[in-house]
Amino acid sequence: MNWKQIDRNKRVQNKGVYNQWKQQVSDDCGNRCVYCSIHEMPWGGIDHYHIDHFRPQSIFTDLVNTITNLYHACPVCNKFKSKDWKNEPDDLNSICYPDPSDHNFTDLFEIQSNFTLEGKYTASKYLINRLYLNRPQLVYERREDFLNRRYKILIQETEKLILECEDIGLKNETIKTIIRISIFMQTRSDVTPYKLEEIKKPKKYKS
Ligand SMILES: [Zn+2]
Repeated sequence: MNWKQIDRNKRVQNKGVYNQWKQQVSDDCGNRCVYCSIHEMPWGGIDHYHIDHFRPQSIFTDLVNTITNLYHACPVCNKFKSKDWKNEPDDLNSICYPDPSDHNFTDLFEIQSNFTLEGKYTASKYLINRLYLNRPQLVYERREDFLNRRYKILIQETEKLILECEDIGLKNETIKTIIRISIFMQTRSDVTPYKLEEIKKPKKYKS
């Protein structure tokens, strides 16, 4: 997916309070949820996203307005993370939340052939479980991302082949196939939306 490591050194500490910095936090995080990597756009934009206090504000009261403690999060991840805090994120082999400024989350997961995530470490396993990173919406988004990437490659390769091909019949067949695939790509989004019970909080995490 589209995780990126947040550059802590580029973050600018402003005066005031955190809820005035929503745009800055969003931009710092590439306008994506740092946990599930979904862009804010399909969710109706920045207004529907939350400012996540990485170290929860109820425990770390001195970090409420510290820019490096703030990340952009989708409402679902933010809701599941809530006030949860187990340990400092010093060791990926302990139960903790990996800090998006310390890691590119791409390195913490393996995407399976069915587009679910598997954690490579105790911390990333915990993250998947606690934030329910295999919820149907995210599996769907990963599959979309994969298909779109493959589709672009297919179109580029086919364009080359059509230009080089001297067999008119084969050329026409190839063009027809591409048109069929294009139609499929446009209609595949006709998938049943997930239901509320599918995104309820996961059961207690067992390591
Ligand atoms: Zn999210």
